[in-house]
Amino acid sequence: MSGDSWLIITDEGRIGGMLSAVRQLGGKVTAVVVGPRGLADTVAAKGPDRVLWFAVEEGFPPEAYGTQVAEAAKTAGVRVVLSSDVPSGRVLLGMVAAQTNSAVVGSIRSLAEDGDSLLVGRSVADGRAVETLEVTGSLAGIFDGKDVDLPPGQPATVEEVPVRQPDGALRVVETLPASAESAGLLSAERVVGAGSGIRAKEDLELIRQLATAVGAEIACSLPVCDDMRWFESARVVGSSHHQIAPALYIAVGISGQPQHMSGLRDAKVIVAVNNDPEARIFKHCNYGIVGDLYKVVPALAEEFRNAC
Ligand SMILES: Cc1cc2nc3c(=O)[nH]c(=O)nc-3n(C[C@H](O)[C@H](O)[C@H](O)COP(=O)(O)OP(=O)(O)OC[C@H]3O[C@@H](n4cnc5c(N)ncnc54)[C@H](O)[C@@H]3O)c2cc1C
Repeated sequence: MSGDSWLIITDEGRIGGMLSAVRQLGGKVTAVVVGPRGLADTVAAKGPDRVLWFAVEEGFPPEAYGTQVAEAAKTAGVRVVLSSDVPSGRVLLGMVAAQTNSAVVGSIRSLAEDGDSLLVGRSVADGRAVETLEVTGSLAGIFDGKDVDLPPGQPATVEEVPVRQPDGALRVVETLPASAESAGLLSAERVVGAGSGIRAKEDLELIRQLATAVGAEIACSLPVCDDMRWFESARVVGSSHHQIAPALYIAVGISGQPQHMSGLRDAKVIVAVNNDPEARIFKHCNYGIVGDLYKVVPALAEEFRNAC
């Protein structure tokens, strides 16, 4: 087993975060891209030592190449293999782990060396604590730490791996767009989130006015959909629904429970409006406004209207 690391990459999420986590360990870092050539080029520009590119043939999902990726990982004999927490990455990582007899760990936040062992920091208790595990052999891990904007590195050369015809048991039959509602939310630069602090359905008009003033899509917490039934589930943000990455998220009357906040891990700026100064969301936002939403939201909307 070498001291090198592999990153299994099927989309652009958290490449910088994974790269900087394994850089702490020394050793060479190889990005293993299972996807289109454009993705391999994007990864190469971030400066790993090598990029191995498994060219995904039209009509096949990355998972169809799992056997080949796992065989390559076994041959390489690396110490650490990471993927981000996306479905195709999780599947490929599982297949690698089965081939390499690696310890499998999810929700990884950090990696460090401790003599011959690895110390793996992983999030537990819905993000309320970080547990440190010691791994003495090889590790197959799902990275769940923050993404990092890396300064441009020395670009790596993309090496195409000759692939066999993928496993015919798995094929893409069709790809349909998400509902118009969730599609808008998923790509929105600005989002206003409505929570249970809103007392009545007609008060959602305040949220709509703020969203219009800000040029934002509207999202909600789970109870606003499931209990109040004011929105479709297409609008729910959180662990059991949508993960979003807007530049700005304004959370109104939302307490900030881990299940909601995990849908916002990639949001750039979070503003919270809550009348409870002890609300959990104030520990997880960039700007907090302690106050009654019925006063703060109209004032905020007015400020945005004047500013735009
Ligand atoms: C398995 C599982 C999965 C889940 N998945 C999700 C998920 O995907 N998404 C999700 O959102 N939740 C999810 N939940 C639910 C989650 O745990 C929380 O219950 C939920 O996020 C709370 O929603 P909330 O913040 O709107 O409500 P609350 O926790 O009730 O918070 C309401 C907030 O409004 C504030 N408030 C009240 N009145 C005012 C006022 N006048 N002005 C300003 N602030 C006011 C209060 O101080 C409070 O902080 C899940 C739960 C489980 C068990």
